Amino acid sequence: MPHDRALVLFSGGQDSATCLAWALARYAHVETIGFDYGQRHRVELQCRTTFLQRLKGEFPAWGAKLGADHLLDLGLLGQVSDTALTADKAIEFEANGLPNTFVPGRNLVFFTFAAALAYRRGLTVLVGGMCETDYSGYPDCRDDTLKALQVTLGLGLATRMVIETPLMWIDKAATWRLTEQLGGEPLVRLVRDETHSCYVGDHTQQHAWGYGCGQCPACELRRKGWDGYVGA
Ligand code: ZN
Repeated sequence: MPHDRALVLFSGGQDSATCLAWALARYAHVETIGFDYGQRHRVELQCRTTFLQRLKGEFPAWGAKLGADHLLDLGLLGQVSDTALTADKAIEFEANGLPNTFVPGRNLVFFTFAAALAYRRGLTVLVGGMCETDYSGYPDCRDDTLKALQVTLGLGLATRMVIETPLMWIDKAATWRLTEQLGGEPLVRLVRDETHSCYVGDHTQQHAWGYGCGQCPACELRRKGWDGYVGA
């Protein structure tokens, strides 16, 4: 089977938006999937819709390849996890060294549902924005985890599923450079203005690097990456 039909895990954040453009530049047909798991930063779900609309309008060649968008209700994940991403609590580090924004099993669950949907839709490439270069230390973002998952999903579905993570080995400044390579200034502006990364869901304060509270670890990473990109 030619691997030219992809499903992008698109959260509405900067990384997955860049991965979506990467996939559109590469594959013949691209669909998107997002998850509602009771995240505090639910505003990212609205950003998804706006981003997809603007992307189609401003990049018509990509718009022609862009298929259905799927939003799955994974409220159960929010119910079983007690984290600063899914409950109103302060962000801090746990005894195991991981921040309490880590939602255990999140990417495993996301990819499993993405694969189930991809199987039904005849899509064989799963694209995710995970990265272990410039990240929060989440073990399910690691390359080894995702490679193992690729093998597991392929065996469990008896169908070859390829997991692509184009951002795995680049830092956040390089992610912006990739955005620029893919779609020039217009794409950089679109990603900056219409995606959401902030953990606490603040989409009211606008900074040079986009919207966010400016304080949480996700905002910090995003600001650092932008500064590196523009050479500040
Ligand atoms: Zn923030």
